Amino acid sequence: MAEAYSTLAKPTILVVEDEAPLMTLLRYNLEKQGFKVEEAADGQEALLRVSEARPDLVLLDWMLPALSGIEVCRQLRRRPHTRDLPIIMVTARTEDQDAVRALDTGADDYIAKPFVMDALLARIRALLRRSGGVATKGMLTYRDLAMDQDAHRVARGGRPLHLGPTEYRLLEFFLQHPGRVFSREQLLDAVWGRDIHVEPRTVDVHIRRLRKAINGESDVDLIRTVRSAGYALDAEDH
Ligand code: CA
Repeated sequence: MAEAYSTLAKPTILVVEDEAPLMTLLRYNLEKQGFKVEEAADGQEALLRVSEARPDLVLLDWMLPALSGIEVCRQLRRRPHTRDLPIIMVTARTEDQDAVRALDTGADDYIAKPFVMDALLARIRALLRRSGGVATKGMLTYRDLAMDQDAHRVARGGRPLHLGPTEYRLLEFFLQHPGRVFSREQLLDAVWGRDIHVEPRTVDVHIRRLRKAINGESDVDLIRTVRSAGYALDAEDH
């Protein structure tokens, strides 16, 4: 199952974790999978590391001394440079509201402690696939929305938009099938992949974020919610 990366393109993972034994375990497993590992033991250090060198993904513990993982996530999302940095939040809590809160703050995914290492690795690989990738496909458009897949840029009416990796991939999928309604399960399969388990409700959170990112105050909402069916890229004003 090991999908090792070549030494030429080793993705760097910044692990933010204050429990030393867990850090050691994470480093061992991530390096075994071909990742380069950077460490930060608290929130401040995490922000410093990220500004020094942008990692490919941040594995961010929620419960940290001084500055919580949620706050770190919020700050990273506020900075233009790290607005779309892939973040997986590690929660010590299993309550659903916490997971949703993590996603609402801007995390791309979350995993609850205690976690199975293989499940975490699958999520990391899936998020890296969604965020990076070698897109050389061209231009997708719908009404005044345009996605340049080569440059990995999205604009609406000429105004550049900033999307997280999951929202980007969702929008890309919608743009490939405009007007078609997809169920949450279909979106999960298409965007997250079949190999990882994600709650269908997670789709709602990312749709909300996608809407927020692409719809300006005076813009027409380009995403149509189809009650009990799912979502479509389909402006409702016609
Ligand atoms: Ca902790």
